Amino acid sequence: MLDERLNTVLSYVEGPTLLDIGSDHAYLPIQALKKNIIKKAICGEVVEGPYRSSKKNVAQYGYTNRVDVRLGDGLEVVEPTDQIDTISICGMGGPLIASILEKGLQTINQRPKIVVQANTYTYPIRKILQAFNYTILNEKVVKDKHHYYEIIVAELSDEQINYTEQELKFGPVFLKRRDELFIDMLRRELEHQQRIEAQMRLGSSLDNIKQIELKISELKEVIQHE
Ligand code: SAM
Repeated sequence: MLDERLNTVLSYVEGPTLLDIGSDHAYLPIQALKKNIIKKAICGEVVEGPYRSSKKNVAQYGYTNRVDVRLGDGLEVVEPTDQIDTISICGMGGPLIASILEKGLQTINQRPKIVVQANTYTYPIRKILQAFNYTILNEKVVKDKHHYYEIIVAELSDEQINYTEQELKFGPVFLKRRDELFIDMLRRELEHQQRIEAQMRLGSSLDNIKQIELKISELKEVIQHE
């Protein structure tokens, strides 16, 4: 039922209650219930079509009494009496995930674990996690066909979190572990940036060229690890 991306996310989910924002088909909570990882779930969806599709799938698998599917924007679907152990937000761009956390995390009373899977640009997610004093426990890259997906797992810390700019950009766990897929992902990004740079040299402003040169040198620094 789940592809490698969502299966990896599932491996970080802890119960008893999962809040899955942007649930769409609701496959993640359904599979978490099937595998007895959780006892209950709340699904949040902002768009009517995916909301109905979540409801339909939940009913089809016989979980209507264990999954509450709610229509609403981000974490605003959470009610004061909800007890949440894990929040998952998957399949969206990094800036959207960051803005969902930024707008709603202070309204959650417990200390839920956070598991996010971003399709793009994870820097703003790490910035927000740090601002809410969440420490990053794990980071993983999953490659599906030609796409690299980053998964970030975080939990609330009692200590002040202070990541460096490099850690916020590339990920503190990624930088420490230097997994093969992480380095592959950076190599592909480097090639992409180098192609853009070559185009820019044909007529872009000096400022833009300098910005891209900086990106390229940051990527090379991590890849070459000097
Ligand atoms: N989470 C599933 C997955 O990873 O396969 C579905 C990902 S789907 C590409 C993204 C879903 O997030 C869409 O169904 C979209 O309607 C929903 N979404 C986008 N912004 C949202 C928000 N602010 N609040 C709740 N859902 C949102």
